[in-house]
Amino acid sequence: MTDRPLRIVVAGGGTAGWMTAAALARTLGPVATVTLVESEAIGTVGVGESTIPPLVAYNRLLGIAEADFMRATSATFKLGIAFENWKAPGESYFHSFGGTGRDHWSAGFQHFWLHGLSRGHAAPYGDYCLELMAAQAGRFAHLPDGRMNYAYQLDSGRYAAFLRRLAEGDGATRVEGRIARVELDGDSGEIAALHLDGDRRVDGDLFVDCTGFRALLIEGALHAGFDDWTHWLPCDRAIAVQTASVRPPVPYTRAIAHDAGWQWRIPLQHRQGNGIVWCSRYLDEDQALDRLLSSVEGQVLTEPNRIRFTTGARRRQWVKNCVAVGLSGGFMEPLESTSIHLIQRAVLRLLRLLPVGARPDPADIAEFNEQQWADMVQIRDFLILHYKATERRDSPFWRHCAGMEVPESLSHRMDLFARTGRVFRKNEELFAENSWVQVMMGQGIMPAAYHPVAAKLRDDELERLLAGLRREVADTVQGLPGHAAYVDHYCGARTGA
Ligand code: FAD
Repeated sequence: MTDRPLRIVVAGGGTAGWMTAAALARTLGPVATVTLVESEAIGTVGVGESTIPPLVAYNRLLGIAEADFMRATSATFKLGIAFENWKAPGESYFHSFGGTGRDHWSAGFQHFWLHGLSRGHAAPYGDYCLELMAAQAGRFAHLPDGRMNYAYQLDSGRYAAFLRRLAEGDGATRVEGRIARVELDGDSGEIAALHLDGDRRVDGDLFVDCTGFRALLIEGALHAGFDDWTHWLPCDRAIAVQTASVRPPVPYTRAIAHDAGWQWRIPLQHRQGNGIVWCSRYLDEDQALDRLLSSVEGQVLTEPNRIRFTTGARRRQWVKNCVAVGLSGGFMEPLESTSIHLIQRAVLRLLRLLPVGARPDPADIAEFNEQQWADMVQIRDFLILHYKATERRDSPFWRHCAGMEVPESLSHRMDLFARTGRVFRKNEELFAENSWVQVMMGQGIMPAAYHPVAAKLRDDELERLLAGLRREVADTVQGLPGHAAYVDHYCGARTGA
């Protein structure tokens, strides 16, 4: 241990930079100094508005009052994602948060539902999921004991500004300026300082690279290496525009497939986020922009934000005294809203593995890299599933996706589910069994068999079980207020214009 505080420098002030600075400043107090360098002239990526439930816990860890946060970020609640045209044009399914039905310790609910199907019970699998039915009904409320699992749809620029106020209130220092050069220590090869335009330097012990796709520190200075996953997730372009709301916000994000990728719609309190994601091998930018602008509803409020990306992960996300958080660590397209979550995981992991003394321990670095890599690989597989398991053959893009080789870890999962209805959550992976079941069945993988324990129920027992669970969900949804009215009431009044 050293006597002086650890000097932590966060390079970049997008969602990743401010999520990092806020958490470090609040958690570490006088144990560390936190300095964040950002350049207004360079700006942020300007997207990233749909989240998943762990963000609720992250905000709580930071002691954030939810209604204040929602007011400040114009947030709405999110209960899942509607996938339209993924299995086949005109067909849709829902990947919702929360569980479906009730699992038996020996077998997940899907086995009982599949048995029911074979006995003539035709109600869709989703009818047994509270979050899914509430989302489709456009309803929401906080329920006792966290019975409704939710996330947020938020304005990312406002979220960063909100976290900035929090971080600065906790003693973090913001430095405005462009990082022109990264200075390495001649002996250790560690980062010694950031040199900014105007002959300024920022020294530190630990550097967090939040410079986005530029990855100035982790790649530019330390050459961590990048694993390209484009052969599995071929989309590499996006355009985003914001539009005025034309109807009350729904508590879910829409992901609408087209012949060379997909489009998103994310409803906030004051406006809607829209975007198109595509593979440049199959669609050119002008066509993509036309397609986006001709499909949005409401007045377009912003210039198109054009983004190029390469799907993949930095091979080492912590090198020497530099940790990559956010887009600098890698990026997979936003299909399941996982990027902000990866930021959160990296920040919490960094806090757990914070160096004892000024120098990070190689064992801690290895641990961080292994855990972060495992997260990314698991999410990668889940995303690939949406492209691989499709009945679409109507365009070269979809024919490519349906025919591509996928990682063995994924093909094993798809095969096991198709044969037996079984799926297992590995280690602490983000997506639990119910997510896999919803997406696999939604994409058209129907199991050929199910667990024998489900068949031990007599027909009348099965009827009672299924009808009871379905009624429970329907009654609860019936008693919920409309989502938009609930948000208005919860936040006091709508913000923004
Ligand atoms: P950025 O926002 O790019 O921030 C980089 C920062 O570094 C900026 O402050 C910039 O000024 C600074 N910087 C860079 N170079 C320098 C320099 N030389 N000197 C000083 N400062 C510098 N995630 C989700 O969870 N949900 C979504 O719905 C979602 N949608 C997305 C859609 C698209 C099309 C894309 C591309 C991403 C999406 N993401 C989403 C990811 C999400 O946007 C990012 O994870 C998140 O915004 C974090 O970005 P960042 O802070 O790492 O990078």
